Amino acid sequence: MEKGQITVNTENIFPIIKQFLYSEQEIFLRELISNAVDATSKLKTLSSKGVAKGELGDLTIEIIPNKEARTLTIKDKGIGLTSEETKKYLNQVAFSSAQEFLEKYKDDANIIGHFGLGFYSAFMVADKVEVNTLSYQEDAEPVIWSCTGDTNFEINASEKTDRGTEIILHLSDDAMQYAEDDKLQELLNKYCKFLPVPIKLGMKKKTISEGEGEEKTDREIEVANIINNTNPLWKKSPSELSEQDYINFYKELYPYSSDPLFWIHLNIDYPFNLTGVLYFPKIETNFDIQKNKIHLYSNQVFVTDDVKEIVPEFLMLLHGVIDSPDIPLNVSRSYLQADSHVRKISGYITKKVAEKLNDLFKQDRAGFEAKWPDIGTFIKYGYLSDDKFEEKVSGSILLKNTDGQYFTIDEYKEKIKDNQTDKDGKITVLYSNVLNDHHSYIQAAKTKGYDVLEMDQVIDNHFIQHLEYKKGDFVFKRIDSDVTDHLISSDETIPELLTESEIKSIEELYKNVLKDSMNKIEVKPLSSDVQPVQIVKPEFMRRMTEMQMLQGHSMGKMPEMYTIVINSNHPLIANKLLKMEDNAAQENMAKNLYDLARLSQQMLTGADLTNFINNNLVQMSETSI
Ligand code: ADP
Repeated sequence: MEKGQITVNTENIFPIIKQFLYSEQEIFLRELISNAVDATSKLKTLSSKGVAKGELGDLTIEIIPNKEARTLTIKDKGIGLTSEETKKYLNQVAFSSAQEFLEKYKDDANIIGHFGLGFYSAFMVADKVEVNTLSYQEDAEPVIWSCTGDTNFEINASEKTDRGTEIILHLSDDAMQYAEDDKLQELLNKYCKFLPVPIKLGMKKKTISEGEGEEKTDREIEVANIINNTNPLWKKSPSELSEQDYINFYKELYPYSSDPLFWIHLNIDYPFNLTGVLYFPKIETNFDIQKNKIHLYSNQVFVTDDVKEIVPEFLMLLHGVIDSPDIPLNVSRSYLQADSHVRKISGYITKKVAEKLNDLFKQDRAGFEAKWPDIGTFIKYGYLSDDKFEEKVSGSILLKNTDGQYFTIDEYKEKIKDNQTDKDGKITVLYSNVLNDHHSYIQAAKTKGYDVLEMDQVIDNHFIQHLEYKKGDFVFKRIDSDVTDHLISSDETIPELLTESEIKSIEELYKNVLKDSMNKIEVKPLSSDVQPVQIVKPEFMRRMTEMQMLQGHSMGKMPEMYTIVINSNHPLIANKLLKMEDNAAQENMAKNLYDLARLSQQMLTGADLTNFINNNLVQMSETSI
């Protein structure tokens, strides 16, 4: 037997490690299994080079819980360790890096793996750890290393006869759940689902059919419960995969989701290594955006589903897997952001996604249009937040009009430029965000031959602003805004039917009728088929309020300001209202026309609405038969 002291200056490092790693206690399993996988891969490499002699045999890694003995064993058939290596790797190396880790990254204990700290995570759940190991090397003697969580260790001769390493964890009282099959199954599913070496957790029952026809019988047998898929889809070549394979894999990752819309298979080996599959989920509603659905792997070991630094923010709503051994995980988060690899990876993914979208658009426009309701928000978001992406996809961004037709930005410009250019040479884009509420405005605009876009997504406010800013010649006006000015094409002249004093008297009438209104009243000679009274909301003011509300700045509900536009050319105004002699009847009609305008805007509610209805009923009953 040999005794020794672990070479480390810090008197007792374990309590510190425990404390640091506490929140992520369960990762000990990932770390120990990764080590087992590494040891197995190393053996395969050595064998292929002829350094390790003989048959390798079954290399399955076993996870063996034992509730009575209160242990959890992780057993591999990898290269094993000699007595010397045990001392070297399990003591000095790991400890010096543990110390380094603690000194450097005191505030950032998120990333433990890949730092030579993996093995020591065992002490988060065990009071005592034994490493029973036999090296692949000829003449190697089996040894058993043990340590009870202080800086002293023991190495004894072992009886082990088969090659490889067994890590025996003597579980502490508060870690007994790691001896439960269910808990282990859950953790293995999370961290080890796609490891390249089979991982076995006990046995499971399987039904097999024997014989033919009448003779056929079902029999239950016990088979090894292998929890991982050692050859996951993203590692295969796209040419050997069918659409169904991609969909099945998606279902394997996200069992309760609807089918993805499409996907991108990533595969690059220069200037960094990266494989993976990214899926476009079907977004059922505007707010149904789920983040943390991209899983980051390093050589098939699950690392995290927090990929903020690696994937640009707007791409976070994609689902799938990214696997890259080149992403440096042994450094702090802030460093990661500045890392040139990481930036390249992020740029590469952005480029791939943009290319995929452009391909879909070019190859199958109808299919692309059909998917637009699901992907539009996402693309607009990317368009707004990432210059490179914007540049790449700007030809595939679609605008949808109220007739359900789709146009690219350029196509749309071409379509409306002749008819909707205003006096200042700006192309006026009319849009509505609530088709139902704006029905009368939309109808009126269409009758005049104007086109109206549907812009009903939360993101459209920003999108509109961006388009106006980028394409200097666009002005967006919501269909209920002060649009009437702009609707008049430069060469259209509208005759004034009323004299100035007549216009004045209409204005006075309305000022009098609506005396407590804070809103502006304007009498304008519009085309005679434009409604007699209209309520318009200045585009600029409305957008400001909306922006403030989006940012949560609204100070209570501000009263909505609008302009009441009276069309002095409308026959009801010019020929009837103006000419009425009975003052009370005139005021009543003026009010009624205003209420109709409010009614069409869902602005007439409560007592006002009741009065309006009663008023009308009275009038009808008074009308002579
Ligand atoms: P890292 O794996 O990052 O090097 P660890 O603390 O996890 O750090 O392990 C330290 C070293 O111990 C490893 O580099 C490896 O040489 C050795 N080791 C750990 N587990 C095993 C194992 N199951 N089989 C063989 N060697 C192992």
